[in-house]
Amino acid sequence: MLPAVIALGSNLGDREENLRAAVRDIDALADVTVTAASAIVQSHAVKTTGTDAEAPAYLNAVMLVQSALDPEDLLPELNRIEADHGRVRVERWGDRTLDLDIIDFAGLLRETVDLTLPHPLAAKRAFVIVPWLQVDPDAEIRGHGRIDSLTVAFSDEVWLFEAAPLWTRP
Ligand code: ADP
Ligand code: MG
Repeated sequence: MLPAVIALGSNLGDREENLRAAVRDIDALADVTVTAASAIVQSHAVKTTGTDAEAPAYLNAVMLVQSALDPEDLLPELNRIEADHGRVRVERWGDRTLDLDIIDFAGLLRETVDLTLPHPLAAKRAFVIVPWLQVDPDAEIRGHGRIDSLTVAFSDEVWLFEAAPLWTRP
């Protein structure tokens, strides 16, 4: 088992339930165990054209897992769970019911067509860094150092939606 960090996002449908269902589905995978989940934060949608305050806002959270699956095998499982929850890929960064990204996988580096690790945009995204800090105050991103030193960790781009953890072990 190796530790991984997964970011969840939703800006369509029952956003909160989409996130909750995703954690349950990930924990139900035979080779993956959820160990912690953050609170839920909210932020404006970011499109390829920039921040879009007119688009439905995003709810985001971060979960820590232990995975016996390699990252290459974990990603298709996450993509399947996205599809199960109605994700349709239309445009890059388009509105979506569920987005599941692997932010870090045991500090490994990957650079393939399907998978880049650590996630290349994580260090710039407050909606990843802020909830990640809640569940792991000592976290680091390879190439960027400690996440508590990233400016996005202190940004006003995200605000709290629900302070209670997205998930606790039933
Ligand atoms: P985004 O998450 O950037 O909004 P998508 O969810 O549509 O966009 O993902 C686009 C592609 O990103 C996917 O086809 C996936 O193969 C690829 N990808 C590369 N690295 C990662 C990663 N670390 N986690 C999740 N997807 C990744
Ligand atoms: Mg994604």
